[in-house]
Amino acid sequence: MTIAGEGIVGSEQFGVINPATGEVFDYAPECSSEHLDAAMAAAKGAFESWRLDESARRTALLSCSTVIKNAVDQLAPILTREQGKPLSRAVVELKGAAKWFDYTARLEIPREVALDNDHVHVEVRRRPYGVVAAITPWNYPVSLAVWKIAPALLAGNTVVLKPSPFTPLTTLKVGELLQEVLPSGVLNIVSGGDDLGSWMTKHPSVRKISFTGSVATGKRVAAAAAPDLKRVTLELGGNDPAIVLPDVDPAAVAKHVFWGALENCGQVCSAIKRVYVPMEKYEAFLEAVGDVAANARIGDGFDDATQIGPVNNAPQFQRIIDLVDDARHHGARIVVGGSRVGNRGYFYQPTVVGDISDGTRLVDEEQFGPVIPIVPYDSVENALERANATHFGLSGSVWSSDVKRATKVAEQLECGTAWVNQHLNILPHAPFGGAKWSGIGVENGPWGLLGFTEIQTVNVAKG
Ligand code: NAD
Repeated sequence: MTIAGEGIVGSEQFGVINPATGEVFDYAPECSSEHLDAAMAAAKGAFESWRLDESARRTALLSCSTVIKNAVDQLAPILTREQGKPLSRAVVELKGAAKWFDYTARLEIPREVALDNDHVHVEVRRRPYGVVAAITPWNYPVSLAVWKIAPALLAGNTVVLKPSPFTPLTTLKVGELLQEVLPSGVLNIVSGGDDLGSWMTKHPSVRKISFTGSVATGKRVAAAAAPDLKRVTLELGGNDPAIVLPDVDPAAVAKHVFWGALENCGQVCSAIKRVYVPMEKYEAFLEAVGDVAANARIGDGFDDATQIGPVNNAPQFQRIIDLVDDARHHGARIVVGGSRVGNRGYFYQPTVVGDISDGTRLVDEEQFGPVIPIVPYDSVENALERANATHFGLSGSVWSSDVKRATKVAEQLECGTAWVNQHLNILPHAPFGGAKWSGIGVENGPWGLLGFTEIQTVNVAKG
């Protein structure tokens, strides 16, 4: 771990499993409550000077970008080994993290004049909170950490971050490498289980919590923040619909819809989780997506040919098995896939499920794995209604050769990001966050940065 600029091993450790083998390949430190106190104290101490010099912070963030860029070859194999994703995708994630640091370093912290007249000059300023507790999940450990670290630090906060116990190693290494360019105590990385997350959210030194993970945990985080009125940003799960409009050529969009669902083995908060297809195109669409699925190459992330790695962990793997079994039991048609691959690790076939509808777990819940349910509809209005009939509201997409019409439909999706003729094009410039149970607040762009600040009105009387 990194606490106050020092590498800390801790007295206890836990095993980290390679999902391609199902076996422990390395160990991470288990952070004790004393070490967490030390990390919080370091962050609190470092805040006093870190908050003072905005231009030094910008320079430091640009250096963070360079450090990560230079370490891609060192970090990518660790990421693939603990997360499972293909090595080429691990490289993309790490390069993205460097890009995010670089982009964020150039954002403005606004100072606005609310009123200036003969009597008063009123300015709206943005102050940092102080210590930010950041907690991340296991699907994109590095990018999601950097989405928090970069804006939190630019705004003048200091950070204590905890990665998921399933994927702690790359984040721990990133924390270690960044000490080269950050003052000690500004960024502390601790590792441990869910209890550590809970201690962080209750810790009296924390002023803001930035959490990415499941809806269930997000609600616990919100409850833990309440007694202290800690500020929260919650980036939670999704059950994102794709609506295919009747004018679509199934063969033309199948590949895009498939990869919008199966990127990172389907373990993306905003991946397509259910597809609504007009009845008249239903069979052709199932066949087209089925073809893409049947040809997708699943395997160990270190094999160059691999496009889809294993599911990250045993509970998630079991969940996928259960959801497909449940769909089968309710009469769904398994068009392609539907079973595990081999008996080592957590490999599951890319799976396309038809003859399924709302009311089935696979459609109603967030599967977070390599399985796409495809649901027939008879009118676009009805598809929209069903797409919106959920507590989730992270993202959604509409597919059509008529961009204007598709945009009109997309605007009616009750979600944080509505895509047209694409899915998963997440950019540092655009705010990303969820409606309804998918979250509170946003990350990325100037909007994400402001989430790490609180407003101060400075109202000065004249003469
Ligand atoms: P999770 O909620 O189980 O865990 C996320 C993190 O919270 C982990 O670090 C975990 O140790 C920690 N944690 C667990 N219990 C805690 C508690 N009581 N208090 C504080 N921290 C606690 O989620 P996961 O299984 O790691 O990740 C998958 C989920 O994350 C999916 O639902 C996915 O959609 C969501 N996700 C959302 C986004 C987004 O930006 N909206 C991005 C990626 C993943």
